[in-house]
Amino acid sequence: MTNPATTDPRSACPDCGTALAEAPGRTVGEIVECGACGSAFEVAALRPFTLIPFEEEEK
Ligand SMILES: [Zn+2]
Repeated sequence: MTNPATTDPRSACPDCGTALAEAPGRTVGEIVECGACGSAFEVAALRPFTLIPFEEEEK
C-alpha cells in the first residue's frame, strides 16, 4: 500500500493517490468517484475527511 508523503492518505484515492479533496456539500455516506482511475469511494467521515473503498456488489 503506497502512502504518498505529499498527500493526506485519508483524502487521497487509495488506488492511484490522486487527491480527492473535501468539497462543499460532501456528506457522510456519499459516493465519491476518482476522476483519475474511476474507483469509487464512500465518505466515512468529514472531520477529518476520510474515504473508504466503495465495494460494488457483483451483479
Ligand atoms: Zn484513483
